[in-house]
Amino acid sequence: MASIKVHLEKCTGCTLCVKACAFGAIHMAERKAVIDMAKCTLCGACVAACKFSAIELEKAAGPKKDLSAYKDVWVFCEQKKGVIQSISFELLGEGRKLADKLGVKLCAVLLGSGMDAAAQALGERGADKVYYADHQALKAYQDDPYTAVLVKLVEEFKPEVLLCGASTIGRSLISRVAIKTNAGLTADCTGLDIDVKERLLLQTRPAFGGNIMATIVAPNHRPQMATVRHKVMKEAPVQAGRKAEVIKTAYPEETFSSRAKLLDIVEELSATVNISEADIIVAGGRGMGSKENFALLEELAKVLGGAVGASRSAVDADWIGYSHQVGQTGKTVCPKLYIACGISGQIQHLIGMQSSKTIVAINKDHDAPIFKVATYGIVGDVNELVPAMIREFKRALNK
Ligand SMILES: Cc1cc2nc3c(=O)[nH]c(=O)nc-3n(C[C@H](O)[C@H](O)[C@H](O)COP(=O)(O)OP(=O)(O)OC[C@H]3O[C@@H](n4cnc5c(N)ncnc54)[C@H](O)[C@@H]3O)c2cc1C
Repeated sequence: MASIKVHLEKCTGCTLCVKACAFGAIHMAERKAVIDMAKCTLCGACVAACKFSAIELEKAAGPKKDLSAYKDVWVFCEQKKGVIQSISFELLGEGRKLADKLGVKLCAVLLGSGMDAAAQALGERGADKVYYADHQALKAYQDDPYTAVLVKLVEEFKPEVLLCGASTIGRSLISRVAIKTNAGLTADCTGLDIDVKERLLLQTRPAFGGNIMATIVAPNHRPQMATVRHKVMKEAPVQAGRKAEVIKTAYPEETFSSRAKLLDIVEELSATVNISEADIIVAGGRGMGSKENFALLEELAKVLGGAVGASRSAVDADWIGYSHQVGQTGKTVCPKLYIACGISGQIQHLIGMQSSKTIVAINKDHDAPIFKVATYGIVGDVNELVPAMIREFKRALNK
């Protein structure tokens, strides 16, 4: 367990720590900092803020893990309504390369209910082994039982590497598992590789607002955990008839208990296709000018059978919901056609769309950075061009 203490002789009563604490856990008494342990999360923000080294956070080293006991590359395979999500196949594709470099097995992990056939079919996507936990409580994602089961699997079978999709479910699950297994976690990786000599997972991801690419390693902990965004890696091909060894695990009933009760799952209603799956995306930025103008993109997307994407500026302006945001803090997309309307092309946006097959950019500024990644660039006003495109595509497609 970690602990935190204030060295009263060093504390000057400057209150920097009080301001730094996001949890309201520090107050001043007689010009000395006092930490309320009921509120403190041991995040260390006050330690970093204190200029006088008056606060000390001590992290007790846990029992030393025998790292050599950890082997194999695992992929957490996300399922919704009993259907394995395509991000899992992308991770199995990448996982295969990593497992081959390490000379170990590629293992899929599936949590669900009544999914025996799907578990077996993961062999056709390259898994050598499938750890399958089958229980009614795992039918739909819930934090508590999913975390408890995955932690038990990790502790029992000891994977060297554990990959998970950077999806809403993946992000919620894997951070909990990383904490409970005292492992490191690198979120939103865009590239993975292996340092074969050191048996380290090289986890590459954008850092400092996307201005540099950082490669992160976790030499002292296992498993080495990383999340990867949808559409960044290529799906593992189907190898018909390829079989995996399915290991069905059973755990005591209390493993599946949950502090929350799942009442219902409500799908987001949208007139157009989900951007993660779309072949065509019509995206808009601040250059669209208003919520009303932005609605034109919905019409263009509908005519083309595509989805609407957005820059963060458009989402911040409340012209469209966050689920449509493309970029570093939104989704990564890889459609066949990406039409960027009134988007400048800042690095944080480009990170999420630059691997699209064909990029068409419309911007009135011919120096806009989006033109550097565009296949075709149109220098012009979106207010004229978007309505003209709707008209022309409707005519050409007989709509
Ligand atoms: C940590 C961090 C994370 C971020 N994450 C994201 C992210 O996930 N996604 C994201 O998009 N951004 C993200 N951003 C914000 C990003 O840096 C940019 O601010 C944002 O992408 C800009 O959005 P924009 O291109 O719509 O707006 P602007 O940069 O304001 O560009 C508007 C463009 O529209 C053009 N224009 C204006 N009027 C017209 C017209 N009538 N016709 C044609 N063109 C016109 C202008 O020439 C300009 O190029 C992030 C920033 C940070 C710091």
